[in-house]
Amino acid sequence: MCEKLLCAICRAKAEHYYTDDSNKYGIKCNSCGEYHLTEKAEIFLGLLLRVDRAMLAAYIRTKVKTAVNPPLLDELDIFRTLVSAFPNQRSRFR
Ligand SMILES: [Zn+2]
Repeated sequence: MCEKLLCAICRAKAEHYYTDDSNKYGIKCNSCGEYHLTEKAEIFLGLLLRVDRAMLAAYIRTKVKTAVNPPLLDELDIFRTLVSAFPNQRSRFR
């Protein structure tokens, strides 16, 4: 089963598909690659500013390219990436 939806990272049209785990699904994006995402992570990504998302997209694309299997992005993963990338903005997440 797959549908044409948006990439959670770059908002381009991307293919979504279901995985064995109902809490997560897969996304195939032409620019970001293939990755798995939890629903919580998708909500989190939706709250990000465009500038944050652009930074994350660069990080995730690197991660996707070096991964053997599609990497799973969960909200903690995204949170950690943001904190390490923007240490001065940590207060936003307190
Ligand atoms: Zn994308």
